[in-house]
Amino acid sequence: MILPLLNGLRITLSHLFRKPVTLQYPKERPEVAPDFRGLHALKMSHDRARCVACHLCPTVCPAKCITVEAGEDANHDKFAARYEIDMLRCIFCGYCVEACPVDALRMTQTFELANYRREDFVFVKERLQEKN
Ligand code: SF4
Ligand code: SF4
Repeated sequence: MILPLLNGLRITLSHLFRKPVTLQYPKERPEVAPDFRGLHALKMSHDRARCVACHLCPTVCPAKCITVEAGEDANHDKFAARYEIDMLRCIFCGYCVEACPVDALRMTQTFELANYRREDFVFVKERLQEKN
């Protein structure tokens, strides 16, 4: 009768002196895994997003949350005139990054995406472009 009681007490005490697994967020920041899939970033090339508006990423996206509209510059090169990701629908699968033929997209370690308004979860091109 007393043995199970002591065993329970031993387990409780052992947890009491262990390093806590919870973090005092936001004072303490969690260590994010190197391959963590957070907010997307559009890579830049010569001050312009590298995206050539090929529409592969919206095609593979299972959540259908990417909107791309192509534009054409003076040299007849295609570029993304509009590029948007609705983060409320994104499931962070990373298929868009894998599908991109010009390596224009990557996923960052940014996980703090809280917002007050629904429309603020739609990340437009200017918000997704990498800042140098
Ligand atoms: S991570 Fe997945 S769900 Fe999110 S935009 Fe890319 S393909 Fe779509
Ligand atoms: S797959 Fe790459 S190049 Fe094509 S639209 Fe998406 S980000 Fe742009």
